[in-house]
Amino acid sequence: MLRLLNHQCTKSTKLSFVLLLRTLCVFVVMTALGCKEETSSFSLPEFDGRKAYAEVEALVQFSPRDAGTSSGWKAAKHIFQRLESFGVEADLDEFVDRTPKGEKTMINVIGMVPGKKKEWIILGSHFDTMPGIENFQGANDSGSSTGVLLEMARMFGESKQVPEIGILFAFFDGEEGIAGYIPGDGLHGSRHMAKQLLETGDHKKIRAMILLDMVGDKDLKFTIPYNSSQELVKETLNAAHQLGYRDRFTLTRSIITDDHVPFLEIGIPAIDLIDFKFGSEPGLNDHWHTEADHLQNISAESLEITGQITLQIVSNLMNGKYTP
Ligand SMILES: [Zn+2]
Repeated sequence: MLRLLNHQCTKSTKLSFVLLLRTLCVFVVMTALGCKEETSSFSLPEFDGRKAYAEVEALVQFSPRDAGTSSGWKAAKHIFQRLESFGVEADLDEFVDRTPKGEKTMINVIGMVPGKKKEWIILGSHFDTMPGIENFQGANDSGSSTGVLLEMARMFGESKQVPEIGILFAFFDGEEGIAGYIPGDGLHGSRHMAKQLLETGDHKKIRAMILLDMVGDKDLKFTIPYNSSQELVKETLNAAHQLGYRDRFTLTRSIITDDHVPFLEIGIPAIDLIDFKFGSEPGLNDHWHTEADHLQNISAESLEITGQITLQIVSNLMNGKYTP
């Protein structure tokens, strides 16, 4: 259960994330009861790449963070506690899913920052690691994106302001396939969340789903997969251009199976901001799913660039109603 607090209201109510619809109704009722909405411009603290890097450092203490293992659970609880420490309402969403190695209990971590409108933007990352790799930290895959999202959660939490559109921070378990990427294996957490949204009809309230994955490479070059929504590709390139990072983006013809796919499948605009060339030299991907995916091979600067671009996209989606 979550506890929703409106920034200017002393009234509060308990709610379940699963019943997002009810959340939104409560928010509307509270507004109707006289809770004034913030009308001044929205501003956030600076995105600090060093803080995002520190979040990755803290997370990899739990590695390997394989789905359905005790260290995976500890990582989930750690993320939950970080969200709460920032003043962001958080939920641990436990579920059981079938895998090629039998049923496994997994857990998504959700952070909620309600907005003025009955709309939400999902910012997603997985936090589990690929099983079976010796000495695997998973600092880039998936520590980097988790660290970026936690730093963003800190910014929204500490600002104590209500954004135009609500933000759902979604930390997915079970992205990695246990037996490789075969149908029904992998993407467990994102498939679970998309299913919940579809069942409640709340998928209609999701304005966009922005997935971050492998965003810590020192040579940060995003390779946007073909299976991303064109409107969000445009938004991303606009945001990158605004910040002077356009040359860090390549549009590929490749299809990438990642956590944005279950959202695309239920009609939610979604994009995968991924640098799928994580290697010892530009263009190579030889660090991916190896023990070379460690803290020394990611950089705070890359995390900061990713955070700035993502926040610019979010700002633009909110029609520039806040300045990142
Ligand atoms: Zn992976």
